[in-house]
Amino acid sequence: MIKLNAYRFSAKELVKMGWLKDLFQDNGFVIDRFPEVYYDTFKNASKVYPNLEQHINEDTPDYLGVYIFEYGDEKCEEQCRSTKEGVIVLFSDRIQDFCLRKQSEFSESLIDIENALREVVLYHELGHWLSHWPYYSGSNWKCGYSAKDRITHEVYAQLVAYWCVEGNRLNELLLREHLTPKIPSSPYNKYEILVGKSKVDMLSKLVLLRKYWCSFQLTDELAYELLKMDLIEKCVAYAFENSVRKIQLNVQALKSLGNEIAFQVLAMGWSCENGELTCIEYDFALCKLLALRLLDETELREVLNFEKKYCDENSRKGIRLIHKFGL
Ligand SMILES: [Zn+2]
Ligand SMILES: [Zn+2]
Repeated sequence: MIKLNAYRFSAKELVKMGWLKDLFQDNGFVIDRFPEVYYDTFKNASKVYPNLEQHINEDTPDYLGVYIFEYGDEKCEEQCRSTKEGVIVLFSDRIQDFCLRKQSEFSESLIDIENALREVVLYHELGHWLSHWPYYSGSNWKCGYSAKDRITHEVYAQLVAYWCVEGNRLNELLLREHLTPKIPSSPYNKYEILVGKSKVDMLSKLVLLRKYWCSFQLTDELAYELLKMDLIEKCVAYAFENSVRKIQLNVQALKSLGNEIAFQVLAMGWSCENGELTCIEYDFALCKLLALRLLDETELREVLNFEKKYCDENSRKGIRLIHKFGL
């Protein structure tokens, strides 16, 4: 069995990793160690990890390195598979090839470019691990973390890389000009619109996304919408935890939060759960009416009673009924 070469961090990388650890810890995450990191050729890595994607785009951090996680056997109530902590491999051959190909575009020496590039790729892959694994309030993203959610995963990996390289000319140039594809559909440039947002905001949203991913069956696209919004954390938490259909609804508390976005989140959560367009429209209408204070507690209760009386809980057909009544 082939063994990959362990990566030896540079002094500069260790300092930056300490800074990352402090950043995440200050925001409630627990980091008592870092993941395994290897530095070897793509070919060797493929022997150890046969499922590595062969034909990935050349101008992304994940062509030059990878965060490899595997699925576990457990399944949660929502039937999503659990995941295991991943390892990082930086591909020595691809990093060197990339530098040779691009050398003429830089004024620095080949060795300086190579060191800087490897550093940026390391931070990107650490970004994957940081968003996936370190615990927050006793839980992490073990469940619901899926390779198909490319936008959310790459946004966090690229953001972490950006935070690490900000202010370092060569590293920043490599990330923004060479590892951020301009093609609109690429998940690797989706972070750009978020670089102005505070780290505290992005990390508190990471906590929310991990927490509600399974139970609300959040999608990659919806998660990205949430990341772009100016949300008040407690509004979102409230919106997720207090459906308008829950009997113990505290309408006053809901109203006093006064953030329409929270209602939209609520509506989107429901629309994901029900998966029907009519429900989306209905929920938006209901939530908007509440947000605009056109529906008071008594009236809302009447709507809910009407639903209870006429709705088929299984098919949720009554929702369409109410929709027809012009709500
Ligand atoms: Zn789950
Ligand atoms: Zn990535």
